[in-house]
Amino acid sequence: MRPEEALNRLKAGNAAFVADQPIQGDVSRDRRLALARGQKPFATLVGCSDSRVGPEQLFGAGLGELFIVRTAGNNVDTAGMGSIEYSVLALNVPLIVVLGHEQCGAVAAASEIVTQDKRFPGSISKMIEPIVPAVLAAQRAGGAGDLIDRAVEENVRRMVERLQTFSEPMLIEPQRKGELMVVGAVYSLATGQVRWLD
Ligand SMILES: [Zn+2]
Repeated sequence: MRPEEALNRLKAGNAAFVADQPIQGDVSRDRRLALARGQKPFATLVGCSDSRVGPEQLFGAGLGELFIVRTAGNNVDTAGMGSIEYSVLALNVPLIVVLGHEQCGAVAAASEIVTQDKRFPGSISKMIEPIVPAVLAAQRAGGAGDLIDRAVEENVRRMVERLQTFSEPMLIEPQRKGELMVVGAVYSLATGQVRWLD
């Protein structure tokens, strides 16, 4: 599948979800049996762990269609990056989507670190630290709307840029050849709509 085709499929799936149409994704027994012989997902999704942002649901995807890396705040650590690389190298995924969402708790926590010098217990602070630069940039840039939502978009843009410029040949080469595309998007909790970033 071409990257544009994969993207259009996600757009169509989300449009159906927004229109409250029944989920089209194939989760049948036949599909399950076919997939037991091997997977060929058409997109890798880097999303947030938030329970309201289930990728298969909001894109109407079935079994074996999306390869997913999910962490609070859709950040990518070594395990996440390795998972993305695997999906490109071994599964030839044509599209990587970085999906943030409105009112992300992890981004809100990062903004509390910035604005209130807040600390979080356990591994939470460390997990949130990589989001802090996005909050600072959103704060500097100013603009209308909520700081958290502006930081959500900035956080997505930064991750997209990182994946587009990451000096790993297995990611760079297919992008150069037009076989792989990395795009960012933000999900609206109430409307269910995925807004694609330029
Ligand atoms: Zn979130």
